[in-house]
Amino acid sequence: MKTVDVVIAGGGPFGLMAAIELGRRGVSVALFDAKPETAFNPQANATQARTMEYFRRLGFADEIRAQGLPRDFPTDIAYFTRYGTHELGRFRLPASRDAANMVRNNDGSWSAAEAPHRISQKYVEPVLRRQAEDLPNVSVRFSSLVQDYRETADGVTCQVSNSDGSDPQALSARILIGADGSRSFIRKKQGYALDGDYGTRRHFMGGRMYAVYLRCPEFYARTGVDPAWMHWTFNPDRRALMAAVDGQGDFAFHTQLLEDEDEEAINDEDAKGFFHQSCGMQIDCEVLDHMGWTAGHALVANRFGAARVWIGGDAAHLFTPTGGLGYNTAVEDAVNLSWKLAAWLKGQAGDALLHSYEVERRKSALRNTGYARQFADSVGNFVPQDGIEDTGEAGDALRAAAGAYLTDHARREFNIPGVTFGTRYDGSPVLPAPDGPVPADQANRYEPSGLPGGRPPHWWFDDGTSLFDRFGLDWTLLRLGGDAPEGAALIAQAAKRGLDLTVLDLGEPRLHALYGAPLVLVRPDQIIGWRGQDDTGAPAIWDLLLGLG
Ligand SMILES: Cc1cc2nc3c(=O)[nH]c(=O)nc-3n(C[C@H](O)[C@H](O)[C@H](O)COP(=O)(O)OP(=O)(O)OC[C@H]3O[C@@H](n4cnc5c(N)ncnc54)[C@H](O)[C@@H]3O)c2cc1C
Repeated sequence: MKTVDVVIAGGGPFGLMAAIELGRRGVSVALFDAKPETAFNPQANATQARTMEYFRRLGFADEIRAQGLPRDFPTDIAYFTRYGTHELGRFRLPASRDAANMVRNNDGSWSAAEAPHRISQKYVEPVLRRQAEDLPNVSVRFSSLVQDYRETADGVTCQVSNSDGSDPQALSARILIGADGSRSFIRKKQGYALDGDYGTRRHFMGGRMYAVYLRCPEFYARTGVDPAWMHWTFNPDRRALMAAVDGQGDFAFHTQLLEDEDEEAINDEDAKGFFHQSCGMQIDCEVLDHMGWTAGHALVANRFGAARVWIGGDAAHLFTPTGGLGYNTAVEDAVNLSWKLAAWLKGQAGDALLHSYEVERRKSALRNTGYARQFADSVGNFVPQDGIEDTGEAGDALRAAAGAYLTDHARREFNIPGVTFGTRYDGSPVLPAPDGPVPADQANRYEPSGLPGGRPPHWWFDDGTSLFDRFGLDWTLLRLGGDAPEGAALIAQAAKRGLDLTVLDLGEPRLHALYGAPLVLVRPDQIIGWRGQDDTGAPAIWDLLLGLG
């Protein structure tokens, strides 16, 4: 029987990112995905700044930023009664070219190596797939299934086959990762329950939704609308949102189905009809794909794994897509899980490090699904008033009020440095207790902090390089300020344990102040693991961080 270190069932963003993170660390991986290709439907439309920082760390953020909307295409969020009638309000955001330049001058909440990037998942996945396929120890097989698995004393035996069931084979692995999406058979077979809100009803973003991937090159010319990334409609009979996919006329349109609309009976003409109703006019368009989905979930699995089987991404949590957090949370799961698995497989870490994946990421999933639910309540329970489309003063007043509310909402949903950078793992079994006050968790504000358990504060050097570019792929020891101790015991312990530790001497006093200590250990997932005045107790520090305590 063929043997690998890790089998991954599912090649969406979570599975592919896990394959890259594991493969870069020398772990052998076999990934299977049931689909013939990466996603055709655009699906998620935003890559948050923290996800871009993770892509940058692996060297392909620029490749991702070059995809999707043209570099000069605005990324505004605009609200309309219908696209061809009244614009209600607009939250202006920079084109990707400007965002990438602006990030170098940002400070405070937006101090980061990368800005967010408005890009459809369908463009991200092929980059991730190529990155995974380029690794010699990673095998990626689409049109292939993990049909079943059985845990053994020292691993997992998986039954794999082509998607049509042909060519069945057994494959042995030390670990199985369930990256098999929302209907995860692995989550079900493990007996894990999804807890939380199931199908909350709202006027919008709460109920049966319908996704229409369409091509309409004349959209802007016919409606007179200024280009935007997101276009939302706000009227009593057809609410919708529509993301620009390629800036050339391809759009991801989503509407909420009405009570009497039967998803199973919807054909291409009906799908066009939804779009025309939202435009308030007929415009030639081609339907490329359409499918139903449900908004209103905020569900998190009660377990994320045990022993030899671990799940993440949509297999472990289901979002309402407000805030654009489902895919980004999936990527962060992969980053958190993979270095831990790699360290455990190499015999450097204890079982507690694997268990910490569930503690840390379940907490994040509860937090992020909660933020998505708040955004969905804010926009979806705000209901258009009768008369909002009327001509005259009364209609104007209703539109002005709706525009003010929605523009304010956009600032809250789409300017979220606190959500993207503010994830904290306090309470994790592999982290010390915080040695100072923990910053408040706020969606729209991020407070950089040197406390263990959160993202390291970012810094741009005068030569234009980012502090994060100097971190190693695995562990990093920062020696900050002019007279930082050598940290010789930490370094010697790391060598003894076979850990890959990058040591950085950074004399800049402001960095010392920002991090609050002269010695700082940054984990492989770019989370502060420990900080201190000296490295007394180095063996115990490493034991804690590696789950050996
Ligand atoms: C129409 C639509 C719109 C969306 N919009 C947004 C959005 O705007 N913002 C946002 O953040 N998120 C959005 N999402 C959600 C986002 O796409 C998911 O959160 C994200 O894809 C999760 O990644 P994943 O890798 O966990 O799962 P998936 O991307 O679902 O990948 C799971 C993969 O597992 C494969 N698979 C399943 N079973 C097996 C098996 N037994 N063996 C092998 N392979 C298997 C499937 O083929 C699939 O490719 C949207 C989703 C849809 C469908």
